[in-house]
Amino acid sequence: MRWWELTWPEFEKVDKTVALLPTGIVEAHGPHLPLGTDALMATYIAEEAAKRANALLLPTVWYGNTYVLDKFPGTISISNETLYMLYRDIFREVARNGIKYLVVINGHGGNTDALNMAAKDVAKETNLVIIIINWWIDLAKEARKKVLETPEGHAAEDETSEVWAAYPDLVKWIPRDGSADEWVEARFRVYGKEPTQWSTRRPYRDTHQEQARKRAGQYWRQQ
Ligand SMILES: [Zn+2]
Repeated sequence: MRWWELTWPEFEKVDKTVALLPTGIVEAHGPHLPLGTDALMATYIAEEAAKRANALLLPTVWYGNTYVLDKFPGTISISNETLYMLYRDIFREVARNGIKYLVVINGHGGNTDALNMAAKDVAKETNLVIIIINWWIDLAKEARKKVLETPEGHAAEDETSEVWAAYPDLVKWIPRDGSADEWVEARFRVYGKEPTQWSTRRPYRDTHQEQARKRAGQYWRQQ
């Protein structure tokens, strides 16, 4: 049930055990995927889950926080302070409306700090139980291991396949090498050199890193 399509008398009568809240970001996702990839995927999964469980579906929080990909055209990054307050206020309102369990389907890693902080604060002051699902880790990790032929990554085979499955019209083309990791590219854009402090955070396979470096070099030369 879409929360926003109900009237208030309908809402009053509806089962308020579980509500789902999708959240993502408007952020560059390679030259082939839509800027809304993370919010679109979270919305798709939350919509499917809400249908199957006959649960309430809240409107998607489209905006999120990113600290590197805001250098790309089209990205919209809001501050962690704003994001925290936005989540906190939504959680409070969900609690005030009598929901017992709120399941957040998060599609973007940069949102987790604000989400966790807001969830802790609101859980303390209300009876709302808040469950945060970072879906690409919590739901998709095992499946990805089975099906992926190239390394996981931002706008890589995993995200490309997911958007292709859920919103086929929104994938502009399929990268030949199956990968388009913008994280490495973005760091070249910002720093113009190999960003060692970042590469320790995530292990890139050699070939993948090599491909990303090549693309980053191309981007950098265009500046
Ligand atoms: Zn993404």
